[in-house]
Amino acid sequence: MDIRVRHLAKEFKTFRALHGVDVDIASGELLALLGPSGSGKTTLLRVIAGLEEPTGGQVFFGDVDATSIPVRERGVGFVFQNYALFKHMTVARNIAFGLEARPRDRRPSSTAIAARVEELLDFVQLSGLGGRYPAQLSGGQRQRVALARALAVEPKVLLLDEPFGALDAKVRKELRKWLRIIHDKTGLTTIFVTHDQDEALELADRIVVLNKGLVEQIGSADDIYDRPASPFVYDFIGDAVGLDVAVQDGRAYVGNQSVPLGILLHGYGTGRLYVRPHHWQFSDAEGARLVGTVVSQRRSGSERRAEVELAPGVSFEISVMPGQEFTTGDRLGMRPQRWRLFTGDGRVFDPTVTGEPLDYEI
Ligand code: ATP
Repeated sequence: MDIRVRHLAKEFKTFRALHGVDVDIASGELLALLGPSGSGKTTLLRVIAGLEEPTGGQVFFGDVDATSIPVRERGVGFVFQNYALFKHMTVARNIAFGLEARPRDRRPSSTAIAARVEELLDFVQLSGLGGRYPAQLSGGQRQRVALARALAVEPKVLLLDEPFGALDAKVRKELRKWLRIIHDKTGLTTIFVTHDQDEALELADRIVVLNKGLVEQIGSADDIYDRPASPFVYDFIGDAVGLDVAVQDGRAYVGNQSVPLGILLHGYGTGRLYVRPHHWQFSDAEGARLVGTVVSQRRSGSERRAEVELAPGVSFEISVMPGQEFTTGDRLGMRPQRWRLFTGDGRVFDPTVTGEPLDYEI
């Protein structure tokens, strides 16, 4: 089932949570809605589900305008972080709930329901646990039951809101892999909300990055990480240094030093230059155009990082590669191997996209 979201707007009284969102979701796609708290992820998911009515725009399920189709008739399955299982029901009864609640003429026989429950328990790798109560399961097992319950009614679309949000990091990672397998086996169109960028980058076919109710970028993990469309996406995804620069005479200046970018810029004005910490190259300070001073060093997980100062008040972290040794006070010649520059008047410079040959004499 493909889904098209068109000019979707949602206002809560005077507050606009979504400002005209357009997204196309292909049938069988696994799509992540990613963004900071309050960016509108849950609101978008709830409007697609039919749990929330939009104030503008439309949602199409295939060719059908589903905007005013009630939630029960949309054929969606949900898993929510806080969508608790029924505590007083066994795991099997929880999974069977959606089927047992159907009107008599559409309800399968009790033997058929029991068989479906067994099949789903096996599918979510919880065979033999149908007689337990939710309190007798781990958090990860409970979310697998929640998924089995959502799948029981054979939805066309699966919607998950921070499904692993309440679980510890290790279980989250396991369930993440498992969800991808389940998704591939069912072939369902799946949309999940997360504020965890690693989860989105690892799991999703494509990611929608939301900011203040607007789509900042839609793309694959590689698109989003390697070619962030805006300063917001750079600041939000991965580590990056954003330097305020002045563009003049073809160069980008930080204070009175110019950054060796390898191409000539056109135009004048201000801009923001983004470089990831591992994309800096170093040379002798002697003769270099851009020189930084190492002011401190620290470990960050498996990596070492050094804080480098370019000018008073302008300092940032770089990755120290294996074999590189810096000492506090070292002066380094610096140039970015990969970078992207957003100018104040809305232009974007990135030689990896435009394919311009680099010449570091420039
Ligand atoms: P989080 O990651 O914190 O869950 P989110 O990106 O999912 O955030 P939403 O829950 O979609 O964000 O909320 C978007 C904005 O709309 C927020 O500012 C929120 O306060 C507001 N909002 C959401 N639901 C309502 C409501 N029922 N009434 C009023 N404002 C609401």
